[in-house]
Amino acid sequence: MAWTEALEDVSEIRAETDVLVVGGGIIGCSTAYFLARDGVEAVVVDRGDINTQASGANAGSLHVQFQSHQAKRTDGDFPAYYEESTRLLGRAVAFWQELGAELDCDVEIHVEGGLMLAESEDQMRFLEAKVERERRLGLDVYIVRGNEMRDLAPYVSERAIGGEFCTNEGRVNPTLATPALLRGAVRAGARFFRHTALIALTRESSGFVAQTDRGAIRAKRVVNAAGTGSPAVAAMAGIELPVVFGELLHMNVSEAAEPFMNHLVQHAAYRLTMKQASNGNVIVGGGWPAGAGAAGGPPRVLRPSIQGNLWVAQRLVSGLGHLRLLRCWTGVNISTDGKAVLGEVPAVPGFFMAATGIGYTLGPLTGRLVASAVQGKRDEIDIRAFSITRVANRVPAA
Ligand SMILES: Cc1cc2nc3c(=O)[nH]c(=O)nc-3n(C[C@H](O)[C@H](O)[C@H](O)COP(=O)(O)OP(=O)(O)OC[C@H]3O[C@@H](n4cnc5c(N)ncnc54)[C@H](O)[C@@H]3O)c2cc1C
Repeated sequence: MAWTEALEDVSEIRAETDVLVVGGGIIGCSTAYFLARDGVEAVVVDRGDINTQASGANAGSLHVQFQSHQAKRTDGDFPAYYEESTRLLGRAVAFWQELGAELDCDVEIHVEGGLMLAESEDQMRFLEAKVERERRLGLDVYIVRGNEMRDLAPYVSERAIGGEFCTNEGRVNPTLATPALLRGAVRAGARFFRHTALIALTRESSGFVAQTDRGAIRAKRVVNAAGTGSPAVAAMAGIELPVVFGELLHMNVSEAAEPFMNHLVQHAAYRLTMKQASNGNVIVGGGWPAGAGAAGGPPRVLRPSIQGNLWVAQRLVSGLGHLRLLRCWTGVNISTDGKAVLGEVPAVPGFFMAATGIGYTLGPLTGRLVASAVQGKRDEIDIRAFSITRVANRVPAA
């Protein structure tokens, strides 16, 4: 089944459902998948097309170790919150692997480890301290140098003197994986309406009336999986969500090459993620900025981001130098205070949050956790630490 065949395009919607999921990215599709598999009636609405925002733009890295720029942050609660998120990442990758086996196509999950490389002794010291901190969280990470590093990763250039290896990092193909979850959700009974924006939410005795730009949907419960739109959706329920922000990011992809790089590669000092996809293309990103686009349009590609991102990549992997850049694209990442906002909002019973950064890695696990919370089911992972109560205030009445 082509994934668009699973979607309902009707001019006017009048629906009733148990759970309304707002947002058809990886989090919304995963939540619908797990709800529907548990026999819970679910409707997903997306104001655009499915998998076209952060989930369709992302790099497909399955992250576990701290990213270097995040590891250096010392502001406020961020370091503690980031550690809490990191504890989930290893489980999230293992969950992707389990889930991959039950999806209807190969979504190209490869978990052969991730290497964060250093070019100086200063950077090695940073990695050594990072390894110590990560081991305290239970991560399987270790330092590699010299021949050990070159045996592990023959593609690494002479500039790299060593690195940190994390055994369970990897990659997945987001253009395959989100649609596969969507199809699984539809087969289990979920309904999807694209080009359908939630514009208002009213509470009534039996739940909510969700006003969309194509009609009303009555739902007993609502899940807010609207990505960077989630503060606006929360505000419709009278909730302030000051910890979810958009971050405009840049990505590059090269032409295909014979397989030569089987790890997720990062730099200890510069923003970089790099991996070779199953079809041989090398995907290079890691947090270089994009520029604000025209109103309602995608962010703009910035030339310094192309140059800077590829400059870092070629320092570490010299074999990249002869590959042509095929394409660049941009996306809006979901950035938080360091951890996800998950679960029911106590002040608005029946309204659930599902917002997280590092969200492609965390996507299916987040979907499972939120689907369990919606049903009041116990999960082996306790999500209370991710509650909105750490930040939320009711929006003051105008
Ligand atoms: C360039 C880039 C690279 C990234 N790389 C990685 C990576 O390598 N690894 C990783 O783990 N993470 C990565 N991320 C982060 C990851 O992509 C996101 O955290 C994740 O996709 C978030 O999923 P989501 O479903 O919450 O949001 P989205 O995919 O943005 O989906 C939210 C959906 O909600 C819809 N919506 C919003 N408001 C409304 C409304 N009012 N009514 C109806 N629908 C609405 C939107 O149209 C959208 O489709 C990257 C992000 C970017 C941008």
